[in-house]
Amino acid sequence: MTGHDAIDTSRPHPARMYDWFLGGKDNYPVDEEMARQLLQLNPLGREMAKSNRAFMHRATRWLGADAGVRQYLDIGTGIPTEPNLHQIAQEVAPDSRVVYTDNDPIVLRHAEALLRSSAEGLTEYVQADAREPDEIVEQAGRILDFEKPVALSLIALLHFVPDEDGAYELVQKLLEPLASGSYLVISHTTGDFDPENSKKAQELYKAKGVPLALRSREEVGRFFDGLELVEPGVSMVAEWHPELGEVVPVPDGGIIAGYVGVARKP
Ligand code: SAH
Repeated sequence: MTGHDAIDTSRPHPARMYDWFLGGKDNYPVDEEMARQLLQLNPLGREMAKSNRAFMHRATRWLGADAGVRQYLDIGTGIPTEPNLHQIAQEVAPDSRVVYTDNDPIVLRHAEALLRSSAEGLTEYVQADAREPDEIVEQAGRILDFEKPVALSLIALLHFVPDEDGAYELVQKLLEPLASGSYLVISHTTGDFDPENSKKAQELYKAKGVPLALRSREEVGRFFDGLELVEPGVSMVAEWHPELGEVVPVPDGGIIAGYVGVARKP
């Protein structure tokens, strides 16, 4: 394979490092090496990835069961890891439709696992970059009905999009065509709890050609401007509806350095 389909094993990729943190097998020695370096700066790397995944499960359950959402646009999907978003959504409502998007060719390579939909529902995979929201909206519009609510899930994605790449603008552009009653779901890493080591991690990413945007609680909150935040608002991952599923245990005194939130489009 060539061009944008080629898998570059000469430098680490976020999707593959995340897979390594989750204990997956779809990663390469460069990914493991960098993930281990990150663990030295933040020993909770594995718990962070698992907590994030568990948040996705709880949020999707809430969206399906409490908010009645039947359509999902998930950007920055990652390498398939069971249960995937559509499995949770279709467990609640088998007719749920999910469009998955990622820009990493390794996700495309494994996309068939994302396409095993329930018979009543539908799943689709679109290889695209979050920084090209118009393209995503166009492609997603072939599967999703924008007259009805859609949950836009940007889970552990936006910290890979710096402000100068249009992080806030892309969220606005993706929300624009969505119907009233749609939702925005975000999880986002932060440097608020350990600025020094977070900065070192950021430098490590930068050296490998990956920009990492460490945003404060207030900066993460700004993604939700104009929307109605669902309780408990922009919060720590373990605080968001722990009653809806697994909350990953963290060793004493440990903090998962990230914020999560879900909000409704009025
Ligand atoms: N959402 C999943 C995976 C998070 S890992 C989960 O929470 O479990 C972050 C993912 O974002 C990776 O798969 C990476 O390839 C993807 N990503 C990073 N920058 C992106 C961009 N500009 N466009 C699309 N996907 C991107």
